Amino acid sequence: AKVLVTGANGFVGVWIVKTLLEAGYAIRGTVRTPSKGEHLKTFFAGKGDFEVVIVDDITKEGAFDQAVQGVDLVVHSASPFHFKAIVPDDLIVPAVKGTVGILESVKKFGTSVKRIVITGSCASVFKPSNKPEIFDETSWNEPAIKEVKEKGAAAPVPIMYRASKMLAEQAAWEFYEKNKSSIPWDLVVLLPPFVSTPPIQDVPSLNELNQSMQDLYDSVVLGKRGDAALLQGFAWVDVRDLAVAHKLALETEGAKGERIIISSGPYFWQTLVDVANSITPAPLPNLAKGKPELIKGKPFPLDYSTAKMTRIFGFKPRGLEEMMRDSLEQFARIKAKA
Ligand code: NDP
Repeated sequence: AKVLVTGANGFVGVWIVKTLLEAGYAIRGTVRTPSKGEHLKTFFAGKGDFEVVIVDDITKEGAFDQAVQGVDLVVHSASPFHFKAIVPDDLIVPAVKGTVGILESVKKFGTSVKRIVITGSCASVFKPSNKPEIFDETSWNEPAIKEVKEKGAAAPVPIMYRASKMLAEQAAWEFYEKNKSSIPWDLVVLLPPFVSTPPIQDVPSLNELNQSMQDLYDSVVLGKRGDAALLQGFAWVDVRDLAVAHKLALETEGAKGERIIISSGPYFWQTLVDVANSITPAPLPNLAKGKPELIKGKPFPLDYSTAKMTRIFGFKPRGLEEMMRDSLEQFARIKAKA
């Protein structure tokens, strides 16, 4: 079967492509410019049936009309995840228009498509709270939309990002509900929290990491987090497991019409610093130490239920140590090459 993967050059996208190629799927990956396809062509040369197509602006009407033709399955992963936005629409417009656009193109031209899997985010599940919480798939991050509506460009950029993922996911389900009686395909949305793993996208230097790996590098290597920030906690998943979850989402009948959290477990940023320091031999010298005593005896601020993931996919994501070792080793390789 042939899968269209949007944002194939992204941190998550490359791992999805790699995992699907290894499973024997043919892949058509979209990127914005020819030069962004070059790393992929070299990286996947001889590794399977892989082609790149250019979709230069996902906000243009009909942007995916050609790309969806002749594929059996679609993974929509392209969406801005960076904190460089100036106004909310810098993130919201491509997130929402890209998502609705691919659904519209499949409806019109994707006559062989059976399923669309969207890379959503726990950003659209999470809600701020002053006590520890465990969220499940019934939770929606309406407060992010409200905050962005109220504050506009003065809203914190991470909140703009959360609103972009929330609005894109809502728009996808709305489209699906409206059209599901007349379309031959169904929809699955995967919801990962903080995603980390060795980056294999094109990373010329450690200043050019994707957002989540930049956060990891800044925190555990450069020690850029103060006490309050080390005490913040979220949940995480290894992108290698997230990529397997995308494959399972394409293949598993029981995933039809579901939003599914894909999480490995909770952490404090100090936990990540501690795990990095526990790895021997140290892949990189002079790691940040933080303050291990900060988190002693403290409950994690939030976590996500993995009951649905376990029930539908029956798999268990890997643990922190493996992610950290492999990530630090990859940072060391990038540093040596730069
Ligand atoms: P990257 O920045 O590495 O990849 C994002 C991908 O989307 C790239 O291919 C990028 O293309 C493309 N993209 C971004 N903005 C646009 C735009 N305006 N028009 C067209 N394409 C665009 O981030 P990730 O790999 O981390 O993110 C991939 C997906 O995973 C996103 O949907 C993100 O929301 C989701 N996600 C990521 C998490 C994480 O912690 N990393 C957590 C939860 C969800 P280009 O290279 O040309 O910019």
